[in-house]
Amino acid sequence: MTRYDPQEALSNLRHEFGEHGGVNPSIESSTTFTVIDPETMPEIFAGRLGPDDAHGGCYLYGRHFNPTVFVLGRQIAALDGAESAYCAASGLGAITAAILQCVEAGDHIVCATGIYGGTYALLHDYLPKRTGITTTFVDITDLDQVRSAITDRTKIVYAETLSNPTLQVADIPSLSEISKANGCSLIIDNTFAPCIVSPARLGADVTVHSLTKFISGGSDVIAGAVSGSTEFVQSLMDLKDGSLMLLGPTMDPSVAFQLILRVPHLPLRMKEHSRRAQHFAERLEALGLDVHYPGLASHPQHALLKRLSNEGYGAGGILALDVGDVHRAHALMDALQNKAHFGFVAVSLGYFDTLMSCSGSSTSSELSEKARARAGISPGLVRISIGYTGSLEQRWEQFEGMLRRQGFIR
Ligand SMILES: *Cc1c(COP(=O)(O)O)cnc(C)c1O
Repeated sequence: MTRYDPQEALSNLRHEFGEHGGVNPSIESSTTFTVIDPETMPEIFAGRLGPDDAHGGCYLYGRHFNPTVFVLGRQIAALDGAESAYCAASGLGAITAAILQCVEAGDHIVCATGIYGGTYALLHDYLPKRTGITTTFVDITDLDQVRSAITDRTKIVYAETLSNPTLQVADIPSLSEISKANGCSLIIDNTFAPCIVSPARLGADVTVHSLTKFISGGSDVIAGAVSGSTEFVQSLMDLKDGSLMLLGPTMDPSVAFQLILRVPHLPLRMKEHSRRAQHFAERLEALGLDVHYPGLASHPQHALLKRLSNEGYGAGGILALDVGDVHRAHALMDALQNKAHFGFVAVSLGYFDTLMSCSGSSTSSELSEKARARAGISPGLVRISIGYTGSLEQRWEQFEGMLRRQGFIR
């Protein structure tokens, strides 16, 4: 595997100037586009002309490709090391469209147990009831379990690069091999690890993102994206069979514009999230606490992540601290928010400030108690998305001081 740096890949993209030579791209708000020659229209409908340069730079209608959203798509493709990408109104909109594009009624999916609660509800409950598409959930770190769950109806192997919230690492190259040998598509949710891992470079057929998290960084917009081969991205937009086109989770061009201005500093932000999370994880572990972080040598897939990750971006901004039970978890979060002003008790992640939630009773509550136990989500697990406001030492003093005062350490 040759070295890949998303920061370099972003800077190699062609610069999108605004309409009047502005340094930023313009926002194309039109929902419909003219053609000079009416003969062009049927060519666009047939998919022979389209938005990329090779296909004439032709646009049709706002729920189909939009030029501003297309610029953000290029940035996402560069982060993932993919040929193409396009965006959606939410992460779950992107995930649903990507999944449905790969399956037909009655098909089967093999999926990691430790996944985002919304994706779990979609695969475990919503799709079987409405489409007959069923999913077998497996321990994604056990490749034999993955292999033996595959049937002749299996079309997708689905995992998150770093699982939510237990931070297991998916062995993307091995999963890709298994998928290819069985005629399946490997779909990877890279929401927790933008810049850190570029799944397409490691053999993922399709990468999905919630842009709502690190890529936005401001906890102010809901957005998603799908990357993959140009053929796959085009198929999502097919006028008669494209899931993004027909289900309609269309990204607003003004949202795309906001995100276009944030992606260029995402590499810097990810490095700082990771640097701080690494320090905190090491210090928490040294204090004898039960901390899960893939940047720690004690993490079961520490070496794997090192092998898969792009150099210099660390192991991510999320760590999980197991404090035993839900009451202790709530007491700690209460003290950290309301006394120490260390961060906020809130779901979501990737914000510039620190966010803390007790996964078992919040974002993973879609899972049954048994499914949570299988996914390793214990009731006292506090997921912490480490922010970069304040100084590292000031934040550590708040954190450690409160752990001491609340009796978590002596
Ligand atoms: C938040 C999240 C999603 C869903 O994204 P939305 O933008 O909220 O629709 C999917 N996967 C992961 C890993 C997430 O954290």
